[in-house]
Amino acid sequence: MSDIASLDLATQTRDLLSGLGVDERRLSAQGAAIPVRSPVNGQMLGHVASATAEETNATIERAHAAFLAWRRIPAPRRGELVRLLGEELRANKDALGRLVSIEVGKSPSEGLGEVQEMIDICDFAVGLSRQLCGLTIATERAEHRMMETWHPIGVVGIISAFNFPVAVWAWNAALALVCGDSVVWKPSEKTPLTAIATDAILRRAIKRFNASGDAAPDGLAELAVGGRETGAALVAHPRVPLVSATGSTEMGRIVGRELASRFGRAILELGGNNAAIVTPSADLDLALRGVAFAAMGTAGQRCTTLRRLFVHSSVYDAFVPRLKAAFSSVSVGSPLDGHLVGPLIDHAALERMQEALAAAMEFGATVHGGERVDVGAPQAFYARPALVETPVHDGPVLDETFAPILYVLSYDDLEDAIALQNDVPQGLSSAIFTTDLREAELFLSARGSDCGIANVNIGTSGAEIGGAFGGEKATGGGRESGSDSWKGYMRRATNTINYGRDLPLAQGVTFDVG
Ligand code: NAD
Repeated sequence: MSDIASLDLATQTRDLLSGLGVDERRLSAQGAAIPVRSPVNGQMLGHVASATAEETNATIERAHAAFLAWRRIPAPRRGELVRLLGEELRANKDALGRLVSIEVGKSPSEGLGEVQEMIDICDFAVGLSRQLCGLTIATERAEHRMMETWHPIGVVGIISAFNFPVAVWAWNAALALVCGDSVVWKPSEKTPLTAIATDAILRRAIKRFNASGDAAPDGLAELAVGGRETGAALVAHPRVPLVSATGSTEMGRIVGRELASRFGRAILELGGNNAAIVTPSADLDLALRGVAFAAMGTAGQRCTTLRRLFVHSSVYDAFVPRLKAAFSSVSVGSPLDGHLVGPLIDHAALERMQEALAAAMEFGATVHGGERVDVGAPQAFYARPALVETPVHDGPVLDETFAPILYVLSYDDLEDAIALQNDVPQGLSSAIFTTDLREAELFLSARGSDCGIANVNIGTSGAEIGGAFGGEKATGGGRESGSDSWKGYMRRATNTINYGRDLPLAQGVTFDVG
């Protein structure tokens, strides 16, 4: 066990960044710079320059010029750049994973997992670069052919949240780059260092790409570090036809409205209020493990974190006491020392957690855990995960509090439980634990979960990149990552070609000008 307060994470960070080729002066910006602290022990890691409005606009113009050149490169060649990015990420996985752990407070395994996710999406995008396929469609007119083609769309703005500081960029950038777009990334102001590190890794890939005879245009993939005003500049800019924004529903409401007002496209990946149902036939050992990871992993700071649990009354007494024991015994402390539950990102997050627990009690709930845990570092904010038995599905239960709080309710009828599960503004992730085929299929059916993600016998978090990721309702409706999400990064054209000598009009319309 290390003494957490005296752990020198600033020096480690400096060494990791300099190993990736980042000039250490970037950590000591003057003036209106962004301060970066490690949530692990609250130590100041550095001050990073924030882009001015002029710099952000110039970055977008550069990215637009890059797009005009990049769209001319054949997609499989564009895929080669992403292949090299995947190689560089593999080579630097340990360093970037460690930085994620230091800057966000994730366990080493989750930090490395985040980088693995970046590698996985690169692999996926490389294959995709040879499969940007359109359709050929039967036409009603003789000697005509109809098809659809997919073209690059332009500059893609990427706004990311603190909790997946680098993977979300990769989900978007790997697809956008093979699709022929350029990208400008506005990372969370809470996690600029991992963004700077990722940018350095990308520069290595671009250098190798150019050395092999290709030319990635200047400005192809840019970084604009800053606060919400930098994000707002991306959202407002007419040269940015698509913004993929990940963060709170509050942010998405503003960004979505702003984009709609200029007919810009949005991929919105917003908050979740995810639920699981434990039915009478559930394998309770498996459910316990699934619920524990989904509710407490990453200290409850995943968009897919399990926040509500509906347990059938016939298994409540067999299941909930075991869950309570897991909550009260899970180790809370520095994730770098192997504890399973690490810190909240900042003091405000701890305050919001305490407010939600107080509000739940006003609604008659019984709160187990949830108190601050003293780790000997006053500027670090750890809390024991809270299991909250609540008689009502109301009050804070309906909100996403970005902290480890699990609200537990008892139910008697599955259809009622599904209705309550769906009765929140958000629609991201959901799960059912059952060994009954009828229950599982009902949950997955049109009458079942209304979420973008619906699982059986696994928890709500920990998605793979092969599926489309995203959610409905106040989660924003966007889809990223696998399946056909790539279509969101391209524009579609329908083409009709007449190879005959006549000009028949569709629907039998005549217009004979002689
Ligand atoms: P946040 O909304 O505070 O910030 C997210 C990003 O949006 C940051 O980069 C921020 O600077 C930017 N931003 C905020 N207001 C903006 C504005 N008006 N215009 C432009 N940009 C703006 O979120 P956070 O605290 O960093 O992250 C936690 C939230 O993100 C949670 O709600 C979580 O559920 C959500 N999240 C969702 C997904 C998903 O895929 N659905 C993934 C990760 C996190």
